[in-house]
Amino acid sequence: MPREGHGVAQSPQTLRMPSYPSNCLHFAKSLMDTTSRVTHSETGPVLLDIIVVGAGLGGLATAVALRQVGHKVTVYEQSAELKEVGAGIQIPPNSTRLLFQLGLEPYLKPYVTEPESLLIRRWQNGKIIGKAQLRPNFAKTFDAPYYVIHRADFLSALSQRALDLGVEIKLGVKVVDYDPMRGGITVADGIHHSGDLVIAADGIKSVARRVLLGGQEIPLRTPGMAAYRAVVDVDKMKRDPELSRILERPGLNAWIGDSKHAMTYTVGLGRVFNLVMPHPDASDPAKWNAETALQDMRAAYRGWDPVLTKILDMVEEPVKWPLLSGSLLTRWTIGQLVILGDAAHGMLPYMAQGAAMAVEDGVALARSLAHIDSLEQLPDALSIFEKVRIWRTSQMREATVLNGQLWHFPDGPLQEARDTAMTPEVNGLPFSHSPNQWSDPTTQMWCYGYDTEKEINTAWRNLRMRQIRSVL
Ligand SMILES: Cc1cc2nc3c(=O)[nH]c(=O)nc-3n(C[C@H](O)[C@H](O)[C@H](O)COP(=O)(O)OP(=O)(O)OC[C@H]3O[C@@H](n4cnc5c(N)ncnc54)[C@H](O)[C@@H]3O)c2cc1C
Repeated sequence: MPREGHGVAQSPQTLRMPSYPSNCLHFAKSLMDTTSRVTHSETGPVLLDIIVVGAGLGGLATAVALRQVGHKVTVYEQSAELKEVGAGIQIPPNSTRLLFQLGLEPYLKPYVTEPESLLIRRWQNGKIIGKAQLRPNFAKTFDAPYYVIHRADFLSALSQRALDLGVEIKLGVKVVDYDPMRGGITVADGIHHSGDLVIAADGIKSVARRVLLGGQEIPLRTPGMAAYRAVVDVDKMKRDPELSRILERPGLNAWIGDSKHAMTYTVGLGRVFNLVMPHPDASDPAKWNAETALQDMRAAYRGWDPVLTKILDMVEEPVKWPLLSGSLLTRWTIGQLVILGDAAHGMLPYMAQGAAMAVEDGVALARSLAHIDSLEQLPDALSIFEKVRIWRTSQMREATVLNGQLWHFPDGPLQEARDTAMTPEVNGLPFSHSPNQWSDPTTQMWCYGYDTEKEINTAWRNLRMRQIRSVL
């Protein structure tokens, strides 16, 4: 809270960000922020020996964040090679900004596309009903661009950066058990390894989560949805004038309708058109028939915009993927074990933020560890990390669920009111609120402008103040 007085700010440091949601001090942010960042090659005096389980996007981003400030990091990955499911992924600016701080910019740059806008289209005819201008607006407002990339390129950029920094990545090693009180893991051949800290980024079906919860199996949430994931060769699309229009400028195009949508964008340096299509399906994935996936996918979107259905006719082999989310956890850490990424907060993909949350997790953990002066303070660092990140990711989960509702209205009064409320942004007119969470000014600032390191620093400052008060 600012001190009351004559009201003259003597220096940027005497200004304090208000506790209410406001951007009035955005202009002075860089002048006010004197706290060094993890990425300024600065760490606390304690360098740890850290085990990371899982070389997915979350595990590798965390490994880079920790190694960059000097910790020793060894990653254990069960797969014999690094791989990702699906083709495309969006990297929103809250993630890009951190990735750049982690030195990833040159590793990502050759492979990314910066979409011009997100166009939300009516399911039936492709009419543009919502629009978020991503370029150049997002880079200007959030100090980092909005990217899309092929998942394989994202993973290889992270692994290359990790290797260049000296992270050891052990492939084909499955972790079968954890010893949280000793910072230990047991791998499939029975060998034990231990460190000062074990970070499990072992995905939504995490084994570490069960250990952390004392053996309790918390069921994953099944919202009764699945997603078709598919790609189409851009050269093939370009031969059709109607489809080539969609490709004229790099952009995100999302057709939205009753209970489902189709999110599309181009990755792989403009060569691959990527589609993700969440739709209702509560059936048991074990009974899914890969042979009928293509016709099922086309049937699910029959009657939609002919441009979209024409693209779907070009799909050769879609993958059907169950959409799951994790239960809300009240703890992410026990002893010397901590979970992050999808293991801690698997969420529906409706805000394109799952991997972005994992990147934030990794940087937040590195920042929290930078505050400790001795190993005895490790529990404090983990508890602050847990508290800050549970809050942020639970809010993001809320945003994803709401976005699913907003995008999946059946035609009717709510849908009409939503579409009318997005008219100003489509027409380039000023607006102060929007049902489009990519463009609603308040949601944008919270979602893309979030500063996880600042939140961690604040939590540490509060802890120190409480500690000082308790001895006075
Ligand atoms: C359809 C869809 C679209 C999405 N789109 C976006 C998007 O646009 N933007 C975005 O930010 N997010 C998106 N997401 C979410 C994003 O893909 C995930 O949040 C992210 O990939 C999770 O990364 P992770 O590293 O936590 O987990 P994972 O990617 O699951 O990685 C876990 C790793 O741990 C390994 N592992 C597991 N168990 C063990 C073990 N016992 N021993 C050793 N290794 C082990 C696995 O092999 C794997 O490599 C989307 C998700 C879906 C389903």
